[in-house]
Amino acid sequence: MNTKSIFLRLLPGFLILWGSLLTACGEPGVTGYRDTPVLPGTPWRVHDGDRPAPPVVTPPEHFSLGAPPPEGAVVLFDGSGLERWSNARGEEAGWKVEDGHMEIAPRSGNIRTRDRFTDFQLHLEFASPAEVRGRGQQRGNSGVFFHGLYEVQILDSYDNPTYPDGQAAALYGQQPPLFNAGKPPGEWQTYDIVYEAPRWDGDGNLVKRAKVTVFHNGVLVHNRQAFLGRTRHRAVAEYDRVHEPEGFIELQDHGDPVRFRNIWLLPLPEKD
Ligand code: MG
Repeated sequence: MNTKSIFLRLLPGFLILWGSLLTACGEPGVTGYRDTPVLPGTPWRVHDGDRPAPPVVTPPEHFSLGAPPPEGAVVLFDGSGLERWSNARGEEAGWKVEDGHMEIAPRSGNIRTRDRFTDFQLHLEFASPAEVRGRGQQRGNSGVFFHGLYEVQILDSYDNPTYPDGQAAALYGQQPPLFNAGKPPGEWQTYDIVYEAPRWDGDGNLVKRAKVTVFHNGVLVHNRQAFLGRTRHRAVAEYDRVHEPEGFIELQDHGDPVRFRNIWLLPLPEKD
């Protein structure tokens, strides 16, 4: 048997294998995955490209853009410097600060607050890169992580389809937002988030899940939505790490030069 006939005999097998690989993976990072586990209580897989995309709404031009911090708020970034932030090793944060905003220095790593907080109202403003590069998850990707574990996604979701549980304001890999209220790349956008930390009892039993209420550009996109667990890629989230209720807030470096400004939070008192 010569080389050509071996090749012709093997070709159909290769084609079937290649086809099934494509079907299994979809277009990774763009449209979704078909080989991921099903999310409990839903018919959808993690990062399911067939999950219905939330309706697109045009947000108001202004809502809380430039909102000044209320009395008692902790100003995490006022445009002047990154003193309240560090890298994961507790060293100086390596992101750029200029013209009253900070910008992710790609591949310098996530940054996190030096202080820890439990339940709070958080205001932050971000802008996706004005120059559009890449698509799906590769466009303006960042994120707000609570305790470094529970992510509210930041993405340029303006005319940029991706799996709904990975678009802007999604609880990544878990819950799409109620609406797509994204603004065009380069424009300043707001997240106003009420965060409630998870709680465990003394025996390590989870007694309260982490919850968020999120307004994206003034549009309610999560109404006291519980996280299924800590954020994971292509896997079902679980509360597999017991931690204190107090935690830092982390901003993700996903390799895109996303900008941030005007970040503050108001710690919430315990309810009586
Ligand atoms: Mg992200």
